[in-house]
Amino acid sequence: MVSAWDQPAPELNGDLGRSDLLSWSPEECVNWMRKLGQPDYRGDQLFRGIHQQRWSRWSQFSIFPEDLRTALAGQGNIDFPVITLNQSSQDGSTKHVFKLRDGLEVEGVFMPYPNRITLCLSSQVGCAMGCTFCATGDMGIKRNLTAGEMIGQVLGMLEHHRYKTTGRPTDTPLNIVFMGMGEPLHNLDHVMKSFHLLSHPKGLGISAKRITLSTSGLVPGIDRLGTYSPRPKLAVSLNGSQDDYRSKIMPVNRVWNLSALKESILRFPLGPREWITLEYVLLKNITDRPSDMQGLLRFAHDIPCKINLIPFNPHEGSGFETPSESRISQCCQILAQTGLIVSVRRSRGQDIAGACGQLVREED
Ligand code: SAH
Ligand code: SF4
Repeated sequence: MVSAWDQPAPELNGDLGRSDLLSWSPEECVNWMRKLGQPDYRGDQLFRGIHQQRWSRWSQFSIFPEDLRTALAGQGNIDFPVITLNQSSQDGSTKHVFKLRDGLEVEGVFMPYPNRITLCLSSQVGCAMGCTFCATGDMGIKRNLTAGEMIGQVLGMLEHHRYKTTGRPTDTPLNIVFMGMGEPLHNLDHVMKSFHLLSHPKGLGISAKRITLSTSGLVPGIDRLGTYSPRPKLAVSLNGSQDDYRSKIMPVNRVWNLSALKESILRFPLGPREWITLEYVLLKNITDRPSDMQGLLRFAHDIPCKINLIPFNPHEGSGFETPSESRISQCCQILAQTGLIVSVRRSRGQDIAGACGQLVREED
């Protein structure tokens, strides 16, 4: 079977060159400075200026001599994606719409908690996986995001919310989740580059343990992710525990069914005290029956995991419904009484269509 995710996703058209400075590692910044006849520390200053100070104009680099700033300005811009819409939710989270340089748009969500901030990032414009309950899946795949476009979402949200980076332990910890638009394992090269940049000590220095990638179950991608060290933590969107139902809502299951998925999870090289998150969307009368919970228990029983139940976030025309509160707590109890760690994700930002699976522009 040939499906959209068997093909590489389209990339941003045109030569990125110096216009994608946000994708550059400190080493690439140093190389550029060398070509301009500058000492290596200027490259580090450039990387730190972008990632730690969030400088987006050459004039802000007052640490550089005037003639260097002029030379850099002649070479290219630091292009942060432009925020075109901010929508705040009653729960404190904000959905941001970013316009990319080719005019396409993606969304990121800023979620403040008492002891941390979680940023939900998009990894692609649209998604090729076609899950039937997901608004992003309805869009189809437009293209991959570059690493710089993912970094741009982070820096854009931090700047908007005036997050202070002092590099000291008093900074509010940042968590990153690749759970916005797109299937991150269908764009693994750029996602891993952004992981490298986000965790770099000369940048935001976010610990690998605080970065999570969620996949719908692209088995070759899970295997590839397992070859990286360090790497983001793995979350798998199970969303169905019986092959016939899962195949109906997640076409990926027709290629890699539950047993293939489970095998890939079992061979995934987990570190000590590391667990996998199994996300499970509760769709009324489709994935929320007691028999579904029994199937989920069978799937999970020998996997070091935590389970995240996500009541369906309704969106127009989906044809799915959210289970009742009593059904949600029944599902939770069936799982929790076996000793599994279960949480129910009260999707943040539901009132602004920014919760998971709703990341699509209303007019699309
Ligand atoms: N593509 C990746 C990550 C983005 S989707 C993945 O599928 O894992 C993030 C999460 O939102 C997934 O667990 C997905 O199953 C869930 N999701 C998608 N649409 C949803 C909806 N309408 N309601 C609730 N959860 C949804
Ligand atoms: Fe893509 Fe994830 Fe939506 Fe499925 S749930 S269509 S993989 S974004």
